[in-house]
Amino acid sequence: MLSVQEATDRILSAFAPLGPEVVSLDQALGRVLVQPVTARLAHPPQAVSAMDGYAVRAADVQQLPVRLKVIEAIAAGTLPIRAIGANEAARIFTGAALPEGADAIVIQENTEKDGDHVRIVDGGAAIQGKHIRGGGNDFAEGQVGIPAGRRLTPSDIGLAAAMNWPWLTVTRKPRVAIISTGNELVQPGEALAPGQIIASNGFALAAFVAQCGGEALNLGIARDEESALADLIDRAAGADLLLTSGGASVGEHDLVQGVLTAKGMALDFWKIAMRPGKPLMFGTLGPLKVIGLPGNPVSAIVTSTLFVGPAIARMLGQADVGPHIVKARLGIDLPANDLRQDYLRASVSEDEAGFVATPFGKQDSAMLSALSRSGGLVIRPPHAPAAKAGSAVEMVRLA
Ligand code: AMP
Ligand code: MG
Repeated sequence: MLSVQEATDRILSAFAPLGPEVVSLDQALGRVLVQPVTARLAHPPQAVSAMDGYAVRAADVQQLPVRLKVIEAIAAGTLPIRAIGANEAARIFTGAALPEGADAIVIQENTEKDGDHVRIVDGGAAIQGKHIRGGGNDFAEGQVGIPAGRRLTPSDIGLAAAMNWPWLTVTRKPRVAIISTGNELVQPGEALAPGQIIASNGFALAAFVAQCGGEALNLGIARDEESALADLIDRAAGADLLLTSGGASVGEHDLVQGVLTAKGMALDFWKIAMRPGKPLMFGTLGPLKVIGLPGNPVSAIVTSTLFVGPAIARMLGQADVGPHIVKARLGIDLPANDLRQDYLRASVSEDEAGFVATPFGKQDSAMLSALSRSGGLVIRPPHAPAAKAGSAVEMVRLA
């Protein structure tokens, strides 16, 4: 059995970033940048007002009240006509260009209109630079806004737009085909005959792939017959990665490894010293990488979090491939561990000192309800000694 670390290294070393494609800003959310975004212009392009009020010379507005002549009104999008001189002001609105001569803004709440003059009253004493956004104070021309390898957030997309890039070069989405296996499985919504269960893995895995930034293709359920499985595997052609669930152990009905090997798959490994998820197979079939996940729904999702997510991130060229590991304190005592690395489903709360992770009493790898309530997976290394409540542990944070 491989350690989790060895398995991770072997999987990650088999994947490389996919090629680039150009997408519009509308399609860029969650995509991974290939080239850094650098500003094609400064923002703001020149000094602007940050408030509605009056542009003034601070030196004129020290003794209050004071009366200034209003020489013009400047709205966002129009330019000042002339510079303001001594004892003059310009009406100005948020985002409008600052007129020459002005070095402060008095907000309109501290003013009174007086014909073609304005009176600056209590509280309005001007401070040089106040309420002014200097030219380029957000970013200068040529400045790097978003580094390559970053998965784009809504704010990043706003920044890319502000830097004047309508199109972005991102990594192509990894295509991930998903096959569920098992004679007992029926689709949600179908009537169940005795002995049947609902097939949930395909849906969970497709959602996981989408969340990671991949494009999932759910190929459905293969009966536990070699020909049925072989047919579905053929339909995965064109994908970058094939995920199978179930049939990964060595029982008589566990056909995944045999069928794939007969098709020419080079097997890398098929067992990891972890719980849940010991039977996990990894291999390469021509251009297709194959990860054979366990059938138990919790095992399938936990192993996806540890191995599939990072593999997709690597294909996307992400700087950080995850998984997202944080420190936490135990909410309960735990017994010593055996030779497999445990990933304990835990409820997670937060106090002043950080995360508190309380593993659920039942750690059955078929219990999706507990996984759904988990905020994290507490990592128990092989042979970890018994641990008291309050002691430090590492945890895979589940979003
Ligand atoms: P297997 O690895 O095929 O022996 O499956 C292990 C367990 O997971 C069995 O109890 C299966 O019924 C269950 N299982 C397998 N595939 C799925 C699936 N797609 N959805 C829900 N449960 C599954
Ligand atoms: Mg099965």
